[in-house]
Amino acid sequence: MESGSNSDVVVVGAGIIGLTTAVVLAERGVRVRVWTRDPAGRTTSAVAGALWWPYRIEPPERARAWALRSLEVYEESAARPETTGVRMVEGVLGETDLDSTAAWAAARLPGLRAATAAEYAGSGLWARLPLIDMTAHLSWLRERLVRAGGTVEERTVSALAEADAGVVVNCTGLDARDLVPDPSVRPVRGQLVVVENPGIRTWTVSTGADGEMAYVFPQPGRLLLGGTAEEDVWSTEPDPAVAEAIVRRCAALRPEIAGARVLGHRVGLRPARDAVRLERGLLPDGRVLVHNYGHGGAGVTVAWGCAEEAAGLACPAA
Ligand SMILES: Cc1cc2nc3c(=O)[nH]c(=O)nc-3n(C[C@H](O)[C@H](O)[C@H](O)COP(=O)(O)OP(=O)(O)OC[C@H]3O[C@@H](n4cnc5c(N)ncnc54)[C@H](O)[C@@H]3O)c2cc1C
Repeated sequence: MESGSNSDVVVVGAGIIGLTTAVVLAERGVRVRVWTRDPAGRTTSAVAGALWWPYRIEPPERARAWALRSLEVYEESAARPETTGVRMVEGVLGETDLDSTAAWAAARLPGLRAATAAEYAGSGLWARLPLIDMTAHLSWLRERLVRAGGTVEERTVSALAEADAGVVVNCTGLDARDLVPDPSVRPVRGQLVVVENPGIRTWTVSTGADGEMAYVFPQPGRLLLGGTAEEDVWSTEPDPAVAEAIVRRCAALRPEIAGARVLGHRVGLRPARDAVRLERGLLPDGRVLVHNYGHGGAGVTVAWGCAEEAAGLACPAA
């Protein structure tokens, strides 16, 4: 197929949303090129924890359907954790219960049960969920795309119409704010602390007595401690006082964390929106433009469900 024909696609963005969308299209036989301003390691997606569970994403009903589809894909990927970066790991979702907050997922997660007092001081759910090492996972997605015939180019656009393909898919996350432009996409800043793992194998997510979020995610070779959710804050510099507070809150959950050696800090800006934008439109010159952005704090959780829907909008016949 020739570049610029209406049967080839440029996906702008190589975070989790762009790469999964490109993989789905390429594996359906579509010629796909991904254009990204940043290498994978510098995307918001690389900052994520990343636990499969919807958080700060709208609207909830659509997000849950996308999440359940993505769960199937992650469960398959978890058969090869060293390659894919996806593991099924047990842990506690604090302040969550089977009758209300988790009822939508109960049928798909038969192991869900109330956490015991020894497992969590408060009411929580014990669950086995996908926990994704994003460094490994983004590299694997890129390789999977290339195996399916796709390409990834470091290239910045100042307008989506610059992409020379019949169909353009916009997966630029927070940058859609300027590029579309769409002022309803806003940052929700998240900060994490990376520490040496003192031997923790399960994850914990808690909103605690004071409503402050704390979470502990064991990843290969390190432990990720979170976190924050600061609306409309643009700074990507780690704040030392915030880092200290994160470690303190996490050590209150899992005392063995106190004194763990700090290996680094991570900050990312979640692309929040009052609703994920996943729809088909047209560029000024009449070519197809599909938007897939605004996944807030759950882009990893919903990626595959959104990717399949976006691919269907981009190339219905593929
Ligand atoms: C601290 C933190 C923890 C998180 N934890 C979780 C979690 O546990 N589970 C979960 O599901 N989600 C989590 N998230 C949310 C998740 O990271 C985001 O929802 C997701 O990364 C959004 O992905 P994206 O591909 O839309 O955006 P991004 O990863 O930001 O990718 C955007 C892409 O667009 C490209 N781009 C932008 N502008 C241009 C341009 N002009 N030209 C070319 N390319 C451009 C960028 O270079 C990049 O490749 C977390 C986020 C943070 C910050």
